[in-house]
Amino acid sequence: MKILLKKHLNLLTIIIGTLFLVVSCSGNDDKADTSVKEVTGSASIGLIDDERILQAESEPGNWLAHGRTYEERRFSPLKQINKETVSELGLVWSKDMGTNRALEATPIVVDGIMFFTSTWSRVYAVNAISGETIWTFDPQVPGEWARKACCDIVNRGVAVYNGKVYSASLDGRLFSLNAETGEVVWEVDTIIDRTRSYTITGAPRVAKGKVYIGNGGAEYGVRGYVTAYDTETGDQAWRFFTVPGNPDLGFEDPAMEMAADTWNGTDWWEFGGGGTVWNSIVYDPDFNNVYLGVGNGSPWSRDIRSPGGGDNLFLSSIVAVDADTGLYKWHYQTTPEDNWDYTAVQDMALAEMEIDGQMKKVLLQAPKNGFFYVIDREDGKVLRAHPFAAVTWATHVDLETGRPVENPAVDWTDNGAWVLPGPLGAHNWQAMSIDLEAGLAYIPTQENPFFYAMQEDYKKTGIYKWTPGKWNMGIEMSSLAQNILNNLDSQPTPGGFLKAFDFLTGETKWSVPIPHYWNGGVLATEGGLVFQGNALGMFSAFDKDTGETLWEFNTYTSMLAPPITFEVNGEQYVSILTGSGGGDLFGGEPLPPIEIQASLIYNNFGRMLVFKIGGKESLPIPNVRDNTIPEQKMVQVSVEQLQDGESKYNQNCAVCHGFVAKSGGALPDLRKMSAGVHDAFNQIVLEGLLASNGMASFADVLTEQEVENIHHYVRARAYEDREVALGNMEEPQYTWFGVEEE
Ligand code: CA
Repeated sequence: MKILLKKHLNLLTIIIGTLFLVVSCSGNDDKADTSVKEVTGSASIGLIDDERILQAESEPGNWLAHGRTYEERRFSPLKQINKETVSELGLVWSKDMGTNRALEATPIVVDGIMFFTSTWSRVYAVNAISGETIWTFDPQVPGEWARKACCDIVNRGVAVYNGKVYSASLDGRLFSLNAETGEVVWEVDTIIDRTRSYTITGAPRVAKGKVYIGNGGAEYGVRGYVTAYDTETGDQAWRFFTVPGNPDLGFEDPAMEMAADTWNGTDWWEFGGGGTVWNSIVYDPDFNNVYLGVGNGSPWSRDIRSPGGGDNLFLSSIVAVDADTGLYKWHYQTTPEDNWDYTAVQDMALAEMEIDGQMKKVLLQAPKNGFFYVIDREDGKVLRAHPFAAVTWATHVDLETGRPVENPAVDWTDNGAWVLPGPLGAHNWQAMSIDLEAGLAYIPTQENPFFYAMQEDYKKTGIYKWTPGKWNMGIEMSSLAQNILNNLDSQPTPGGFLKAFDFLTGETKWSVPIPHYWNGGVLATEGGLVFQGNALGMFSAFDKDTGETLWEFNTYTSMLAPPITFEVNGEQYVSILTGSGGGDLFGGEPLPPIEIQASLIYNNFGRMLVFKIGGKESLPIPNVRDNTIPEQKMVQVSVEQLQDGESKYNQNCAVCHGFVAKSGGALPDLRKMSAGVHDAFNQIVLEGLLASNGMASFADVLTEQEVENIHHYVRARAYEDREVALGNMEEPQYTWFGVEEE
């Protein structure tokens, strides 16, 4: 049957639109219906100040800060739910969040009230034991801002402090809300240049009368920084840039002058440089430091970003700054000369432990690059750096120099190469949990390889064209799908693992394989349990000593968010948000042998689920989603049009709608477009017909002809996959644009 397709192609015959199936082309998300603020009660809570968060261990019933305490170890002393009782764990309440896009928040729970965020940076205050909504706040993010976000309209949570709730919006505003009513106390714009694609998805952190917030946008070309604001007034206290700007304009501080020495070329600042702090910011009361987890370079390719080499500080680094002044203290760079999107934004935990016979105050991080770092908080020296997952980019970290030793066998400068980890990392933002007593980190790890190749245009011309409003990576994106699919045989098999990892010895105590790589964050407890939700929709409790599954609950939805636990009126609860997507949008529907995630089998129901011992509520089993691809109709197009369509699709559309036009479930699968959507295709892509849902106009980067070619490409992919589903074709011919006419 391959011949049939080739024959079609030889006739330059492709297929067009269909008539009867109706498939929504916008993400299902009731943004337009939500008023700015709805209040149905009062979220009365006790005063939360530095002292109370410092003493968080003494009130384990509350989850007072993003990582539970300032140390952010996400390990709870609660043990009513334990190895013996967990079999009785059941659902108490669930709340439908009205979205089928990813939910990533860690709730704050204090005095029976739960504060968390949903899509579009909406904030909720909810009764933690009944699920009743007390107030909601919608910052009314302009829909078109979604195009500036690499990884969808997600948000990872709020901070609660001194009677206020602090939250940031996708379009870069920071809010102080009255914790009882949700009313806005103050609002500031944190973005220094609104013409660049800055976004915020991270949770603010608070300490010492300041609220700390960073941003995202490295893929689009921004310059990273973190700002501290006065919690009461919103006045700016300090700002720390993570990469240097144009030296001709002078440096903001001596740290930037030092950093500039590690960059080369004549105009790196035009590209922005990257280094965004989009996830982890940790306050350290022991040293009065704030630690910034700094992201990848912009563009990804170091040869383009900084021709002639250089470490490019402070990319992929952990930077310690003074909490009061924002002045630089020390840094540790996990990935000098980042060439792979290896962020160091992953969660950081603080601990004090004996290492080599000495008590040390340490910082723990498992960043994307696959090494688990134990860093001395006193001076930033690396004490351990064992690999916690499959790593090929480097052979090891030299503890004498503190630097990784790169593996020349997978240098992709001249020839593309498979590398582990890929850009999703060996561990991403999905939080780990640290069990100090056992000396273990429970880490959601992944082995997800990537085929890195230099951008063809740049290889030919030596000139890199930076385009605002698009992904700027310096990677060959136009043929990325084909590069990957053509090299399937040599591709290391992707997979996910929940690992219990001894970060001092480098030993893996146990490892639970998961047949999909993109899974949720982790919570461990004194009850001897490790909780995690996974891509297949199972929310599970594992024995923390063996990794044995002791309990599981089918949520029918893929999960990314970390579970938390809290106690109200003497009863312990566990909660988790469901709904996947985020940074894996690009992955779309997984290719075999990876198992299809729950969000594709059923749907991607955004829900808050809360459990306790004896909970009796049940979740309705959702209908299996209709994945039928409508019939397509034939029209004549040229191979050149299809090739251009594929190239433009991969550059502009794949990041949300998935590789080879297969969606990952959160955003519309374009192969299933209805006739009406086909008819409106140009209006949607060029005129912003669905901008309020996040599908902004691409008129600034695409011509009408290019949009038409993309449309042809999507139809062609739909035709092919339909033929495979009907048994008329053995397998999809992803490479068919290269087929010679016979
Ligand atoms: Ca990145």
